[in-house]
Amino acid sequence: MTELRDAIASRQASATDGVRTYLDRIEAQNDTINAYHEVYADRSLERAKRVDDGQLTGPLAGVPIAIKDVLCTDWGKTTCGSRMLGEYRSPFTATAVARLESAGAIILGKTNMDEFAMGSSCEHGAWGAVRNPWSHDHVPGGSSGGSAAAMSADLCAAAIGSDTGGSIRQPAAFCGVVGLKPSYGRISRWGLVAYASSLDQIGPFTRDVADAALLLQVMAGRDERDSTCASADVPDYVAALDEPVNDLRIGVAKQYLSDSNDPAVAKAVDGAIEAYRAAGASIVEVDLPHTEYGVPTYYLVATAEASSNLARYDGVHYGHRAADPDDLIDLYSKSRAEGFGDEVKRRIMLGTYALSTGYYDAYYLKALKVRRLIRRDFDEAFKQCDVILCPTTPTPAFRIGEKSDDPLTMYMADVYTVNANLAGIPGVSLPGGFTDTGLPVGVQLLGPVFEEAKLLRIARVFERATGYHQQKPNRD
Ligand code: GLN
Repeated sequence: MTELRDAIASRQASATDGVRTYLDRIEAQNDTINAYHEVYADRSLERAKRVDDGQLTGPLAGVPIAIKDVLCTDWGKTTCGSRMLGEYRSPFTATAVARLESAGAIILGKTNMDEFAMGSSCEHGAWGAVRNPWSHDHVPGGSSGGSAAAMSADLCAAAIGSDTGGSIRQPAAFCGVVGLKPSYGRISRWGLVAYASSLDQIGPFTRDVADAALLLQVMAGRDERDSTCASADVPDYVAALDEPVNDLRIGVAKQYLSDSNDPAVAKAVDGAIEAYRAAGASIVEVDLPHTEYGVPTYYLVATAEASSNLARYDGVHYGHRAADPDDLIDLYSKSRAEGFGDEVKRRIMLGTYALSTGYYDAYYLKALKVRRLIRRDFDEAFKQCDVILCPTTPTPAFRIGEKSDDPLTMYMADVYTVNANLAGIPGVSLPGGFTDTGLPVGVQLLGPVFEEAKLLRIARVFERATGYHQQKPNRD
């Protein structure tokens, strides 16, 4: 992305040719991969022309970017992968997207996702399953699987997703690209359709760490329209990449190195430990004793918040409206029955149950307490190390259909990602190697809250030492 940006800025390449190249690739591959739900060809070419005419400038001038269909734009549709919002047109544009466009980026289109960002496989979107560019029989991960697949298959120069419990990092791992979930509150969520408001965060998919730093730079920072968006200064993430990395301490926690991890995942983590050791880092053992409670805690907090957030889709305020209802209650119930898919209904029921009288204390309140302990585990661990190195996922990409009848197994795909959301800390998944059959495997680095500059700098040490990020799926 940065190379393309520089080539356009120095007039060695034209933005229009760049956009055309991506549009041609989308045309050739999207029928198979199904990464995009909507492509904005005319709008993209118009903006590219403005870049070439020198009217549109900025640090991302001419860079074609794909965005997840959970981000509102005042053009096109914003469907969240749901029939409920199948025809929804937002009257406004998300702050993150507006900032990308003010920096000169070109939004190529919106990518497919699991419905309302609930899922880990991109099989649960209303517009069909997305395929992994490395193997079309495999899932790309989820819920931002369309963005990860588009990035991996070179159908964009960078992509944007959202991560509530791993939805950027897990698909990044499955598709062999870099995926960054910033700290909670680092990027404004105004215009991001809410799933679980205390966990949701926007972030980039890129080919390398430097591109991720640049996109974070552009999107981060205070926004008066999102009261949860932090006012903390935005450091120069790009410049910070070049600062020296001295006395590096890499934390490793036994709770993340389970024997049940796939051998390729274990090998990738071992390889990363070796790479850091060779780069002069010391490896420190840290303890994260409440790790195992992460998945149950997450699936209480996230579903509770989702049940509340999704109450607005009643066929009156928003979304699909059932025909010929008997009365108001019938209108709500039919509209929701028709508009939502099975996984979304399951989450609404779980969350409603966890919040209901008599169960609130036992489930929701208990989950909040455990959440606090998980955060405390990380605070203690970061007293002893700069970042924590762990797998992104217990397995590489699984086959399409393999887990679709078994929600609990699917939820376990998030076991190494959800705790970062519960604690509000940043995490990045990096290409960390391959399985014997050539599927990518990710490794994850977790950092202290608002320490993205350090996290990315340390991530780049690994990227430079290994070069896995330069490999692409062998398809045209
Ligand atoms: N897979 C997790 C879930 O289904 C995470 C989703 C996300 O991060 N949006 O809730």
